[in-house]
Amino acid sequence: MAKDNYIIPIFVPHLGCPHDCVFCNQREITGVRTRLSQDEVIHKIDSYLATIPKTAKKIEVAFYGGSFTGVDPKYQIELLSVAKERLVQGRINGIRLSTRPDYINNQILLRLKEYGVSAIELGVQSLRDEVLKASTRGHSRSDVIKAVNLIRKYDFELGLQIMPGLPASNLESDLATAKEIINLNPDFVRIYPTLVIKGTELAELYKAKKYTPLTLEDAVEISSLLLEYFKEAGIKVIRIGLQPSEGVNNEQVVAGPFHSSFRQLVESRLLLKKIEEKIKVDKINRLVLIVNSKDMSNIRGQKNSNINHLYDKYNLEEIDIKVNDNLARGSLTINIE
Ligand code: SF4
Repeated sequence: MAKDNYIIPIFVPHLGCPHDCVFCNQREITGVRTRLSQDEVIHKIDSYLATIPKTAKKIEVAFYGGSFTGVDPKYQIELLSVAKERLVQGRINGIRLSTRPDYINNQILLRLKEYGVSAIELGVQSLRDEVLKASTRGHSRSDVIKAVNLIRKYDFELGLQIMPGLPASNLESDLATAKEIINLNPDFVRIYPTLVIKGTELAELYKAKKYTPLTLEDAVEISSLLLEYFKEAGIKVIRIGLQPSEGVNNEQVVAGPFHSSFRQLVESRLLLKKIEEKIKVDKINRLVLIVNSKDMSNIRGQKNSNINHLYDKYNLEEIDIKVNDNLARGSLTINIE
């Protein structure tokens, strides 16, 4: 079945960025070593558009790479004008980009408005200054707050990215960051547990045993807590974990919680927690779980891990999973017998 929403991603690697965040090697992640010319961007967008079905409801051009508004303004305008032309022609419906919190000011936001940008994502990563410092981010918590307020003033859609598991972080600081993010009330968030990518400072720290990444189990657990917080606050989580489609693969990841179905692991964990909270009684024989059909594999867990765990831990005789598509995704009804 064709999708409704399409993103045309244009990676703008490390350009204009004088920083060296410990976890970042843009060139390794995006596979792009030189900057795209305006003609290449035209070609990329138009070839992508040619593949999108006419039934698509929303098509957006996204300038990713983490520091778009720090790039030479002339180059920003070259790229933005290609997207704006297609926006005016009605061939796309929106333009979005990602950037750093300290690369936001009135002048920048006025330019983005002029060129039709509708959504801005900020790489916040953490709201603990000691974590930002240990990750050599080069910006502070207060830069994030200032940027968020300005972006809101100009009425852009706002996305915030966070990275659990950075140097000097722990469960407490990651949860505190999530709570502050909720207070900032973004339209959406992305959760990217920290990975150790080849060629980064973090890879050096890891080799020298000065940094220990999250295990896959820890990353799933923390991400499931964050997902729960954001869901309860009504904030969309549009991505959890870097994916092979974002240019990251096993060869580039030196260490850390990389899994091609990371989001599924997290959603599955969240469902398991809901079930376990409910069955806080000692004697249960039969468990009936009712879910949306799209949650069938999440409730079972990878390789049936949730079901096996429940059988083992609670000595159950039977677990019956039923479908009810009137239930929202991620919710479930639990009957205990
Ligand atoms: S600011 Fe962004 S592009 Fe620059 S080093 Fe950090 S993560 Fe990479």
